[in-house]
Amino acid sequence: MKQNPRLVPTFFLGIESTAHTFGASIIDDQGRIITNVNSTYRPPTGIGIHPRKAAEHHNEVSSGVIEKALHGVGERVSPDAVCYSAGPGLGPCLRIGATISRALALYLDKPLVPVHHGVAHLDLAMAAGRSHDPLAVLVSGGHTAIAVHLNKRWRIYGETEDITLGNLLDMFAREAKLPSPGGVAVESKAKEGRTLLALPYTVKGNDVAYSGLLTAAIRLLMEGQSLPDICFSIQEVSFAMLAEAVERSLVQTRKKEVLLAGGVAANQRLREMIQLVAEDHGATFHPVPIEYSGDCGAQIACSGRLAFESGVTVPVPESFVNPRWRLDEIDVPWIPRP
Ligand code: AMP
Ligand code: MG
Repeated sequence: MKQNPRLVPTFFLGIESTAHTFGASIIDDQGRIITNVNSTYRPPTGIGIHPRKAAEHHNEVSSGVIEKALHGVGERVSPDAVCYSAGPGLGPCLRIGATISRALALYLDKPLVPVHHGVAHLDLAMAAGRSHDPLAVLVSGGHTAIAVHLNKRWRIYGETEDITLGNLLDMFAREAKLPSPGGVAVESKAKEGRTLLALPYTVKGNDVAYSGLLTAAIRLLMEGQSLPDICFSIQEVSFAMLAEAVERSLVQTRKKEVLLAGGVAANQRLREMIQLVAEDHGATFHPVPIEYSGDCGAQIACSGRLAFESGVTVPVPESFVNPRWRLDEIDVPWIPRP
């Protein structure tokens, strides 16, 4: 008897290890997330991520995380392709994920799929937020970018000229001895803030710059200003800067959807501001669901599936990691999605 190949389930294993999170996820050939297991390294309060310490964490948790991802659906799943985050990210962390993925692909005799971590944030956000052809706003520890998809690639329409929005929140939180992740701690303190303090507002066309704001916020901290007021002001000013750049980009590109993705997209105040901009210009707003905003295995499995279906694989001996891989340096032919 002949079997309909569409009835044979195909599973994609995604492995994330660019920075603080080691994650593994199984997605089926319809893009349904079957499992998504993640373990995040938390540095001690007041200290940033040390790449070697994060890599040690990934090394320790990797087999347990992968085991759980493979067994999470009752019966053990055997993946048909192994997708790994190839960059950008911290070299020692990337190498752990890549090494594990190479070994799994060889052992299972299955294709290996390199995935761009930033593209993966956008792919998962688009799939989960039902977006097809958006103005994409990617805000995370590694990215602050406004991008549009044109001729097979994400094109950077606006970006930070210095540090990312995630860096701003994390570095301020560290100075203020707030726990990691800094963005969550700043958001919670900001809820008690009432007074808008003066901070530098730097927008240049579609670009933003946050390092002057960080320096000024740390100075306010040293001067003994109220921490909730500083957190409130950092959010209001830094998010308004991004919202202005998004608004200008939206008017210029005339996109009808605005996508908000990345770890900082979990922030309620930022979601409110970007939603207002979208709606003011007749565009629909597609924020990533909060559970998929931060780094996770599911983003790599989701993007890896789309890449694989477009013919992307890499022979194990030629597989690579690229800690400085830009969002606009890779073909993404699977967008716009039908
Ligand atoms: P990612 O690299 O995508 O995992 O994003 C990590 C970044 O998201 C870090 O800079 C976090 O501080 C930040 N982040 C996480 N949750 C929030 C939140 N609720 N508000 C603001 N930033 C956040
Ligand atoms: Mg990320």
